[in-house]
Amino acid sequence: MSSKYFIKTSPQIGESLILEDETAFHLARVLRVRVGDDVVLCDGKNTDYLCKVSEVSSKSVSLVVEEVMKCETELPVSVVLVQALPKAGKIDLIIQKAVELGATEIHPVYTRFCDVKPKNEKPSRWQKISESAAGQSGRGIIPEVFEPVSFEKFVKNVTFSDCLHLPAYEKNDTATILTAFSTYVSRHTTLPLRIYVYVGPEGGFAEQEINLLVKSGAIAVSLGKRILRTETAGLAALAQIGLVLEDYRTF
Ligand code: SAH
Repeated sequence: MSSKYFIKTSPQIGESLILEDETAFHLARVLRVRVGDDVVLCDGKNTDYLCKVSEVSSKSVSLVVEEVMKCETELPVSVVLVQALPKAGKIDLIIQKAVELGATEIHPVYTRFCDVKPKNEKPSRWQKISESAAGQSGRGIIPEVFEPVSFEKFVKNVTFSDCLHLPAYEKNDTATILTAFSTYVSRHTTLPLRIYVYVGPEGGFAEQEINLLVKSGAIAVSLGKRILRTETAGLAALAQIGLVLEDYRTF
């Protein structure tokens, strides 16, 4: 399926929609859709709408909803990436890839060894990167990219109960994502509500930061024997989590 587009409403079968925004521009000018073409829209709440183009003008595209379908591409558990802010520009790539790999939220954080200065802003560009990656990869939601906060503040406010927290720590050689997940599932006999994966900056996490998480019930995990760059680590972790979650019935 080619990429899909997000809309802010949840229409019914037979309903006509008129798109006049960037999506219409993209459909008409870039994809050059014609009357009779199929287009998939998504409400960002896990429902897809198979639509037929009924009119194309210079400023708008009209469509009729032909089928309403549950989007089946989301992982069975929410997966949140908590990413220490990396140097110049790398966060854009991390957001795009994390969305393709199924993350439901991305929280950039400032840790002790971050080389970038704290700024209280959430570039709207980040949310746009998320939306276009979500459309391209056929997601059922648009993952939210949050305003950066300090690592301590994030940890203080996050929920630990019923959630699995996995800081990626290169100095850990015992737990892997697979063992941490199966330990959780066999102890609780249920899936966690959410999985949080934490990735340090270029300089790594301070031991105290890992301890702070572990004290609250997190399990530090290894991503393998090789040291990955910060922009690789989150993606490797998300790929591993995706495999474990999409195959969890085999446990
Ligand atoms: N400690 C190193 C490398 C940091 S790598 C240094 O000081 O230079 C950046 C981040 O990627 C780490 O904080 C960790 O979260 C993650 N990471 C990289 N390789 C990893 C591995 N093999 N296992 C677990 N986490 C890893």
